[in-house]
Amino acid sequence: MCGIFAYLNYNVSRERRYVLEVLLNGLRRLEYRGYDSSGIAVDADLPAPPAPGSAPAPYAGAPPLVYRQEGKIENLVRSVYAEVDEKDVNLDAAFNVHAGIAHTRWATHGVPAPRNSHPQSSGAGDEFLVVHNGIITNYEVLKETLTRHGFTFESDTDTEVIPKLAKFVFDKAHDGEGDVTFSQVVNEVMRQLEGAYALIFKSPHYPNELIACKRGSTLILGVNELSGQKSGKSFNDVKALTANGKPKELFFSSDLCAIVEHTKNYLAIEDNEIVHIKDGSVSILKFDHDKEKPASVQRALSVLEMEVEQIKKGNYDHFMQKEIHEQPHSLTTTMRGRLKDGAVLLGGLKEHLKTIRRSRRVVFIGCGTSYNAALAARTFVEELTGIPVTMEVASDLLDRQGPIYREDTAVFVSQSGETADTLLALDYALENGALCVGITNTVGSTLSRRTHCGIHINAGCEIGVASTKAYTSQIVVMAMMALAIGSDQISTQARREAIISGLFSLPSMFLLESTMYHALCRSAIFH
Ligand code: GLU
Repeated sequence: MCGIFAYLNYNVSRERRYVLEVLLNGLRRLEYRGYDSSGIAVDADLPAPPAPGSAPAPYAGAPPLVYRQEGKIENLVRSVYAEVDEKDVNLDAAFNVHAGIAHTRWATHGVPAPRNSHPQSSGAGDEFLVVHNGIITNYEVLKETLTRHGFTFESDTDTEVIPKLAKFVFDKAHDGEGDVTFSQVVNEVMRQLEGAYALIFKSPHYPNELIACKRGSTLILGVNELSGQKSGKSFNDVKALTANGKPKELFFSSDLCAIVEHTKNYLAIEDNEIVHIKDGSVSILKFDHDKEKPASVQRALSVLEMEVEQIKKGNYDHFMQKEIHEQPHSLTTTMRGRLKDGAVLLGGLKEHLKTIRRSRRVVFIGCGTSYNAALAARTFVEELTGIPVTMEVASDLLDRQGPIYREDTAVFVSQSGETADTLLALDYALENGALCVGITNTVGSTLSRRTHCGIHINAGCEIGVASTKAYTSQIVVMAMMALAIGSDQISTQARREAIISGLFSLPSMFLLESTMYHALCRSAIFH
C-alpha cells in the first residue's frame, strides 16, 4: 500500500514553509499504510521576466522544486530542509494560491531509490509531475513508443510513462492547433493507460491547478471553506460549492485519515473521474474510452463522521493497541439505535428483507480479514435465517467465474469498501443479477455506493494494519443482519432474544475476557 496527498490553497495566503509542513504531515498520516520511499513537489519562485530579445520562459508558472528520498519520511524531511538551506529557498515566501503534491511509495517496479520515488517527471524542467498509486500494466509498450519519440527514461518505474505521455500529448497539441487544457491532456493520457491507478498531475504549464483521476485505486477530495457560510451538510454540488472565489483549501488523498484534521467535507472520487482544480473551483469530468470528450458530472460532498482523535495514538504505544482497547466503544456505536425492544432495526436493509428471505442462498464474498469475519458468522446466519450460506474469496470467485444467480443474496464485506477484488466480484454479481448487500466501515466508499443496500459497521477509523475493532464489529453487524432476516420466524424467537441480550452485554464482557474475540465466543451468538 502507498499514499497520495496534495494540497492547494486558494485566495488565502500561505507561506512556503506552511505548505511544506502540510504536505509532510499528510505523508506522516499515511505512514501507517507502509511505504519504502517518499517525495513532494512545491513551487520555486517565479523567474524574473526574460530580458528583451532573449528566449521566453518555457512555461507560465514557477519551476517546481522536487524532493525525493528513500526510506523513512523523516529522511525526506531532513533532505528537504538541507536542500532548502543549501539553495537558499525562501521559506517565508507567501502564496495566495499554490499547488503541492506528495507521495509515499511502495515499490512495484524498480527498487526503492530517490530516482524511482514519486513525483515522477516528464524530464528536464519537470513540465509534468505525477504521483501514482497502483500499477500501469501496459507501461512497457508505452515506454517503447515514447522512447521512439525521443523520450529518455530515468527511473525503472511503470509510473514514469505517465508524465512523459502528458508531455507528449501537450507538445503534440501545441505543434498543431495550439491550446490544450490540463483536463484534455489528462483525458488523452487516461485513454492510453491500462491497469490500476490513482494519479495527481501538477504542471508549470498550468500553474496553481491540480488534476486527479483514478481507476481502481482510492482517491478522496477534501474541501475546507475558510470563510462565509460553511456548507455543513451533504448533497452540495462540489462545483457550485467551490466556484465562488472564496478562500479555501483543497486536498487530495488516498486515505481519509490524512484529510480529517483539515476538513470533514469530502468526496470519494469514482473510477474514470477527472477532478480538475482551477481558480479554486472543482470541476469533475467522466472519462469515456469511446468518446473524444469527457462529460461533465455533478457530484455532492459528504460529511465525514470521524474525529481527529481517531487518527492520534493518545496514550497507547501503537494504533493496534489503541484499537483493541476501543472495542467496547466501537461495538457500542455499531449497535447504537439498531437494537430496540427485542427487535433489530437496520435502515439500510429494511426495504430488501423480503427479497433476502426469498433468496435461494446467501453468498458471503470478501478477502482476508473480512472473509474471516464472514466465515465466523456463517453458522449463526444459517441458523437464524434458515437460508444456506456459502463463502467466496473474491479473487477465487472471479478466477473460477463461479456461479452466482439472480436468486442469490451476495453479501460483500470490506472494511474500506475499496478492496479491488471485492469490487470486481461485486461487478460480476451485479451482472449476474444477484441482490448485492454491502457491509463496510466506510460511508461513501465504492462498495457502499454500488451495492443495492447495506450496513455501515460504524466502528470508527481503523489505522492498525491487522484488523481488530473492524473485525469484531463486522461479526456483530452480521449477527444483527441474521436477526433481522430471521425476525419473521416464530420458532427462533427465544433464541433471537437470547442473542440480543448477549449483544447488549458484549462491551462489558470485554473487561472480563482477555480479548473481544473471546468475549464474542462466550456470548450467546456462538452458543
Ligand atoms: N507502481 C508504482 C511504482 O512502483 C507505484 C507504486 C505505489 O503504488 O506506490 O513506482
